[in-house]
Amino acid sequence: MSEILVLVEHVDGDVKKVTLELLTLARTLGTPAAVWAGPGYSDAAKARLAEYGAEKIYVAAADEIGDYVAAPKAEVLAHLVAQRSPAAVFVAATGEGKEIAGRLAIKTDSGVISDAVGVGEGFVAEQSIFGGGVNVRSRVTKGTPIITVRPNSTAPVAAAAAGAEEKVEVALSDAARAARIVERVVQEKGARPELTEAAIVVSGGRGVGSGENFAIIEKLADALGAAVGASRAATDAGWYPHQFQVGQTGKTVSPQLYIAAGISGAIQHRAGMQTSKTIVVINKDAEAPLFEIADFGVVGDLFQVVPQLTEEIDKRK
Ligand code: FAD
Repeated sequence: MSEILVLVEHVDGDVKKVTLELLTLARTLGTPAAVWAGPGYSDAAKARLAEYGAEKIYVAAADEIGDYVAAPKAEVLAHLVAQRSPAAVFVAATGEGKEIAGRLAIKTDSGVISDAVGVGEGFVAEQSIFGGGVNVRSRVTKGTPIITVRPNSTAPVAAAAAGAEEKVEVALSDAARAARIVERVVQEKGARPELTEAAIVVSGGRGVGSGENFAIIEKLADALGAAVGASRAATDAGWYPHQFQVGQTGKTVSPQLYIAAGISGAIQHRAGMQTSKTIVVINKDAEAPLFEIADFGVVGDLFQVVPQLTEEIDKRK
């Protein structure tokens, strides 16, 4: 079976969950080969990638790759595409991933499909658009299919593979050195999972009413081991930090379970959460548009419903 390159997302040497998802997806269509670009590679990273099905691991570990924004990683991938002629390249649909994919498409004269929520036979990618109202299936018809896949689209499943390592040396072009990273600010991690990677997200909107009231949302999130999200109305009001905004101009999430409390369901909010597997909506207005895409809906006051839900979940632990 032909090789599918999977670009590894990693932070401080840790392989991000989305990479395990992409390896799992790649296994259904070919032979996954992980591509590590940048410093921080370790035996632990190797073991993790092999555990999730990487038959091969291409390692371009030069420190310099981590010194610049996106472009060096695109050059590493372009080098491998030229050398290995893979069947496809999978990249996480994150901010950096999408930039890398776009650059790679230009370098390899290939088509790119962004924000896929699934990829099937023949590398037909599925995208969910217009607030989840329309599903589009498309296929790259030129060059090597480059597909960015949303985190949480595939459940990661371990399947041990060889993880055969191969060092890759790429001489970076001057263009790749155009934007140097001058500072990295590590955002406070806290005990909760990262929003875009969380299996469960509990979000609050304008209906929450104040920053202090977000404690209700946080309590439910903690009872479920979930991440906290917010609508733009809530972040613009200063009730919750902008980094937790879900939607068109915020983060895109696709968890197994998304609970929205006091959020009306504007198209811009849906754009960031409509591919969630199960959607639960709590809203006192039965006509709130978010109910249209809800799997379960509770028409009620969130100040009553959310604490009761939290209590019930805590009881069952
Ligand atoms: P509202 O629309 O005001 O809804 C509040 C809801 O809370 C109502 O349905 C109400 O019935 C309910 N409610 C009130 N009190 C209670 C209670 N006690 N119990 C239960 N329910 C209650 N929005 C985003 O979220 N993310 C984005 O990324 C984003 N990007 C945007 C980009 C652009 C270019 C534009 C123009 C807009 C964008 N927006 C975005 C804003 C979006 O259009 C909406 O204004 C926003 O999503 C509304 O947030 P909300 O649902 O919290 O507030």
